[in-house]
Amino acid sequence: MKLVFVSGGVISGLGKGITASSIGRLLKARGLVVSAIKIDPYLNIDAGTMNPFEHGEVYVLDDGGEVDLDLGNYERFIDLQLGRDHNITTGKIYKTVIENERRGDYLGKTVQIIPHITDEIKRRIMKVARESGSDVTIVELGGTVGDIESMPFLEAARQLGRDLGKEENVMYIHTTLVPIMGSVGEEKTKPTQRSVKDLMGLGIKPDMIIARSSEPIVDAARRKIAMFCDVDEDYVISLPDAKSIYEVPLTLERQGVADRVIDKMKLRPLTTKRNMKEWETFLNNVLNPKKEVCIALVGKYTSLADSYLSHLEAFAHAGAKRGCRVKVKFVDSDDLLLKDPSSVLDGAHGIVIPGGFGMRGVEGKIVAARHARENRIPFLGVCLGFQIATIEICRHVLGLKDANSTEFAPETCDPVICLMNEQKGMEDMGATMRLGAQAVKIADGSKAAALYGSKDVSERHRHRFEVNQAYIERLEKAGWRFTGRSDDGSRMEIGELEGHPYFVASQFHPEFKSRPERPSPLHQGLVDAAIGRI
Ligand code: GLN
Repeated sequence: MKLVFVSGGVISGLGKGITASSIGRLLKARGLVVSAIKIDPYLNIDAGTMNPFEHGEVYVLDDGGEVDLDLGNYERFIDLQLGRDHNITTGKIYKTVIENERRGDYLGKTVQIIPHITDEIKRRIMKVARESGSDVTIVELGGTVGDIESMPFLEAARQLGRDLGKEENVMYIHTTLVPIMGSVGEEKTKPTQRSVKDLMGLGIKPDMIIARSSEPIVDAARRKIAMFCDVDEDYVISLPDAKSIYEVPLTLERQGVADRVIDKMKLRPLTTKRNMKEWETFLNNVLNPKKEVCIALVGKYTSLADSYLSHLEAFAHAGAKRGCRVKVKFVDSDDLLLKDPSSVLDGAHGIVIPGGFGMRGVEGKIVAARHARENRIPFLGVCLGFQIATIEICRHVLGLKDANSTEFAPETCDPVICLMNEQKGMEDMGATMRLGAQAVKIADGSKAAALYGSKDVSERHRHRFEVNQAYIERLEKAGWRFTGRSDDGSRMEIGELEGHPYFVASQFHPEFKSRPERPSPLHQGLVDAAIGRI
């Protein structure tokens, strides 16, 4: 079992997740089997109940795990399919230890952070690494060295070095900030030195330091870091700000990061040649687009781009495939109630309404869907967006002016979107939605069938409400055809509007399965239709 721990120092938000995912990509490119674990030191059991305003989107895995968005980076960069156990939180660790204690497993002992909490952390890391069958597992330690919450995880990482062997089975990579100051652009290495001292104080000596900075750092700074932090000079890596996150693997490759990891860990790659051709082509398309389209994303968490990260990525993937940059313009749905929709949505070649919860912003989204339908603007609705499109068509095509979802209007006389049966009586909010990958059957001859190139697909879900069966016949007669269904046809999964260039919506979230090499088909459909308008 081989583990690479990636920690962070000085400040948060250094792009540790992207760095760790990129290293994974490089190792995979040499034929190694790679897996990844993200550790989040917060007390929540999972990210499912966390506010996207604060934490960015909740990413959903095939097995229904609601996890930190970094797992999305691992899946996209390394092209993996992870499960909920790949996201370890303090909440999960304490819950298990306290349950063990209540069961009497500790036989009268005093239950302590060391060894009981640290043992549970180690057990989980090793279980995932073993079961993934990987040659190497990358373990990203969330938070910053020095945080109180991270301490037990760093201690577990230190112990794993002892247990498994620091010589070749465990490697520590520390990501830090090197600020560049003043008009002469002098690199300041002191924060890195301090942070490495903190790490060493906890018994971990980093094998590699990745120095984040605005510009590449000069050799003198590299030497200084190597000297003061006691690492080899070629194990000090400079990672300047990139134009695109997809550049990072190549920047690391140029400095031999994968070779260093392979040497240090005595890994046996299938090939010494890197196979990054497809990635390079993709990056080239991202960096040198031949055209540009604008997609308006109508939501309510628009002040934090990370709230819709997987959509942004899916658009980047779909755009790159066509040599097109997709500019995403965030539109606060409430603006559509205050101003003329044509002016708010002016310049958009397409509109997307992503997932969401709660009543605020809903009426503005209905205005956006109507605007797209009536003006034949390409439109994609996802999850809540699918429900919004259905409500809009009920109201303005079928004339059911009070049509609504019981999520927003429990007493409506036309509950066209209603709570799924199995959700009734559910009291807990955590991990109780319809979650994860479910099989969807797609109708022959539909746009969805053409885009997916298959009649049987599997997509990820995260919802409590669904289209009310009592309205299906009327909706289909009005041209809102349900071309994707699940659970023997009883659950509506995809809607397509007849006679519109592209007005498609899905109950599932296609953005979570989008990959640079395999863009989400429904996002591709929107981008292609948008390109058709330039
Ligand atoms: N709030 C809606 C539901 O629970 C939509 C959820 C979503 O968009 N993820 O069904």
